[in-house]
Amino acid sequence: MATRADVVIAGGGFAGLALALALRQGLGDSFRIVVADPAFAAGAKPDLRASAIAAAARRMFEALGVWDAVAKDAQPILDMVVTDSKLEHAMRPVFLTFAGEIEEGEPFAHMIENAPLNAALAANARAQRVDLRATAVTDFEYEGSRIAVSLGDGKISAALLVAADGAKSRIREQAGIATHGWNYGQSAIVTTVAHERPHEGRAVEHFLPAGPFAILPLKGNRSSLVWTETDAEAARIVALADDEFHTELERRFGLHLGDITVVGARRAYPLGLFVARSFMADRIALIGDAAHVIHPIAGQGLNMGLRDAAALAEAIVDAARLGLDIGGDVVLERYQRWRRFDTATMGVATDGLNRLFSNESDVLRLMRDVGLGLVDRMPALKSFFIREAAGVTGDVPKLLRGKAL
Ligand SMILES: Cc1cc2nc3c(=O)[nH]c(=O)nc-3n(C[C@H](O)[C@H](O)[C@H](O)COP(=O)(O)OP(=O)(O)OC[C@H]3O[C@@H](n4cnc5c(N)ncnc54)[C@H](O)[C@@H]3O)c2cc1C
Repeated sequence: MATRADVVIAGGGFAGLALALALRQGLGDSFRIVVADPAFAAGAKPDLRASAIAAAARRMFEALGVWDAVAKDAQPILDMVVTDSKLEHAMRPVFLTFAGEIEEGEPFAHMIENAPLNAALAANARAQRVDLRATAVTDFEYEGSRIAVSLGDGKISAALLVAADGAKSRIREQAGIATHGWNYGQSAIVTTVAHERPHEGRAVEHFLPAGPFAILPLKGNRSSLVWTETDAEAARIVALADDEFHTELERRFGLHLGDITVVGARRAYPLGLFVARSFMADRIALIGDAAHVIHPIAGQGLNMGLRDAAALAEAIVDAARLGLDIGGDVVLERYQRWRRFDTATMGVATDGLNRLFSNESDVLRLMRDVGLGLVDRMPALKSFFIREAAGVTGDVPKLLRGKAL
């Protein structure tokens, strides 16, 4: 087994694997990449969630040669409606609608289940001879101008260690990087339902006092639900017997798609906002949830992780082509400047949206409904929001513009 590498990536989730593929594409076979994740082991639990993949992220998957393998499983989001009411209201008036294309024939987002997308990324990485190890990164220490990374199956000396090891990043902790943020006291219940009638590619966001209840279209007559409640209420609902769970679900889902049947397992995810104080330490870069966790209200967490991967890959590839040290401060500072401001802005935006909508106040409801109604009458503003959600605005890394490195 190799004991030297250029980059060791801890974590083979979306962010870690996308970075590995981008580096392979930009720097070829002689660039040695190790991705370590205990979840590569056979029999690891699959991720039961589904994600909204923004247009920019889809362009990146196309540029990395992954999209073709998953396109058949991806449901375009053709439009989106937003309602705002109390749970007991019989009618849910629609305040805002978005038609979903950023360019002709290019939807602003697709829904896809996490497990097949992650499997396609891992298969592609394996095919491109990225060294995937079914083990954890347990420690690291500095060795002159290298970093020695301890894995469950031995030590590797590298120029750079990337922490893509998720929200509870052990590397972030060991590097002494604190996070700013807070828990919301809310959890998202996630499950999949089958329904009688087709969804026609429509995503629905019901803003209820406990938080957003999102119905997101999957391939076939199925939808993925992200249903926000207080932590205690979410734990109660997840533990209900099947028929009681169905009754609670129907009160929120409504009857617009006919009879519904729960077809997936249910699980509650605690929600919070956390941003790392720094996205770098000596020879270490943080990407994805290791660097930031946001509320899923706008479905942007994973898309931000892919943006990190694209920006870091571009900074590393540019440096390597100039013969510079790929783990040096110049590269890491470029990456950090690129991503920290954008991340903080998205964190503030999702936090504000959640606070504005997750409450019982009638006054706030009136004000936000007037606001939503105004936005609904302004096509230019709607088009701006669609382009923001699609991830195609700002200083967009090459891969997210669909360009190879
Ligand atoms: C309910 C919910 C719905 C969401 N919906 C959306 C959505 O629609 N769109 C969107 O963009 N985002 C969404 N998100 C956010 C998105 O799921 C996350 O941002 C994304 O999965 C993070 O990817 P990641 O690769 O950074 O981390 P993870 O997916 O958490 O991957 C981290 C990996 O690191 C591994 N690991 C951990 N410790 C170690 C170690 N020491 N060594 C090696 N490996 C290690 C783990 O096994 C894991 O595989 C949602 C989040 C929630 C909670």
